[in-house]
Amino acid sequence: MAINIEKYTSLLTELKNKATLIAVSKTKPNEDILALYHAGQRDFGENYVQELVDKEAALPKDIRWHFIGHLQSNKVKAIAPFVHLIHGVDSFNLLKEIDKQAAKINRVIDCLLQIHIAKEETKFGLDADELVHVMNDSLALKNVHVVGLMGMASFSDDKNLVRKEFTMLQALYKQYPQFKTLSMGMSGDYVIAIDEGSNMVRIGSLLFGERNYPKP
Ligand SMILES: *Cc1c(COP(=O)(O)O)cnc(C)c1O
Repeated sequence: MAINIEKYTSLLTELKNKATLIAVSKTKPNEDILALYHAGQRDFGENYVQELVDKEAALPKDIRWHFIGHLQSNKVKAIAPFVHLIHGVDSFNLLKEIDKQAAKINRVIDCLLQIHIAKEETKFGLDADELVHVMNDSLALKNVHVVGLMGMASFSDDKNLVRKEFTMLQALYKQYPQFKTLSMGMSGDYVIAIDEGSNMVRIGSLLFGERNYPKP
């Protein structure tokens, strides 16, 4: 167990009035999550559906669960009843499936569209044109609410590149005055992200220590 409560409180001070902290607890045990919970944290982020479903069942009900991974359509149903915000929506089909599952249980689910800003081809997300189309098509959906954008910068030591990618995401975000959430920034790049207008950061290893298996 490697929870760094001191790091947690200093991070909160640093983020104050700027960004909401999502504690990314993927691969970490429930006791680590509870340690942060008892320090006051309520927003947690997970990448894997089954892991999230298990943790939600076992942990306090006032935790706000954020799904930040790559979501497959056939798994939406499992998290629809409780998920607080889905960060990585990267297609209209997925948005439509979330809408369908939310309608069945009379919910409106908040979603972020994921934008592909990194150089790496392996990362998911929409480009600027696709964003326009998905936003237009989403007007027909009543049980999803697109509240903003999410993006991951290149995994790189080149700070200028990372900054440029976040600048690009912020510019797209600003095209939609109705948006309220810009989810960008992780352990290695959250300072730059906030500088570029992020108001939600997703931080894992800085709080929980390194993970034993690689991030997806
Ligand atoms: C794992 C993950 C994070 C957290 O990464 P750290 O570098 O450990 O802070 C943030 N966002 C997404 C989408 C992730 O998959």
